[in-house]
Amino acid sequence: IGRLRKPLVLEDAQLDPRFQGWGDTFQVHGWIGAPFVYHDHDQLIGYLTIDSLKVGAYSQADANIAQLFANEAAIAIQNALLFEQVRQMAITDPLTGLFDRQYFFEVAEREFQRSQRYGSNISLLILDLDYFKQVNDTYGHLIGDEALRCLAKECLTGLREVDTVARYGGEEFVILMPETPLHRALQVAERVLANIVRQPFRINDLEITLSASIGLASRDEQCFDLETLISRADRALYIAKNSGRGRIVAWSLAEEHNGNLMEAEK
Ligand code: GH3
Ligand code: MG
Ligand code: MG
Repeated sequence: IGRLRKPLVLEDAQLDPRFQGWGDTFQVHGWIGAPFVYHDHDQLIGYLTIDSLKVGAYSQADANIAQLFANEAAIAIQNALLFEQVRQMAITDPLTGLFDRQYFFEVAEREFQRSQRYGSNISLLILDLDYFKQVNDTYGHLIGDEALRCLAKECLTGLREVDTVARYGGEEFVILMPETPLHRALQVAERVLANIVRQPFRINDLEITLSASIGLASRDEQCFDLETLISRADRALYIAKNSGRGRIVAWSLAEEHNGNLMEAEK
């Protein structure tokens, strides 16, 4: 029926070479198959089957009714698939395939509140590539784009199931880590940074080395909202940049008061 694009009635499925039974279908005799056709593309996306224990249970008229139902169902399935596709596009950064900034805020707001309600840990990592403008200036913007894509794929994808990795800005990325205290977040940061600096990224015939600075922050009793958590990680990143780049800095209250944030050990 995939090829037919029309409903098919079998008098007795057991005697019909066109019938492909799956599993325990030896009791099936009368049978109707009605294809779900994806109308725009004339593409088969599945089919509806109705079966009976009785030989000759269904007529062509029955099959036509089944097909009317299948046509409606195909439209509903098509809409559901499109909806899913559009939603996926809306939350994905097209260059890197990571989540986009907007989706990050959506998840982060929810996770922050959850962490506050249950008193659980939550950590945030902000990563900014070092001297990335030079990569563009040296190799061109397209190679720069490709470097971002490689970085995302090789160093930021599939870290830990629970984390949300997103493209925060041009060459800035965030990792939201629910249920993760600062010292564990630091381990993640170290792994990510080690991974980035270890590579030369191979793009066309080029070998490009990248470096990054990372700011880290965790929620504590004085951190009442997501904005505060983000601004702490941002402050830490700023210090990482100004104290030489290629390093990780974790925000801490004491160091903030002293006016110099402690540099995390590497
Ligand atoms: P640093 O962060 O170490 O201070 O130096 P930087 O050169 O990375 O400076 P900054 O973070 O301020 O600037 C980011 C640069 O990254 C600017 C722009 O040339 C480049 N950039 C941002 N988004 C994209 C992008 O989508 N594609 C490419 N190819 N380049 C981008
Ligand atoms: Mg930047
Ligand atoms: Mg940068």
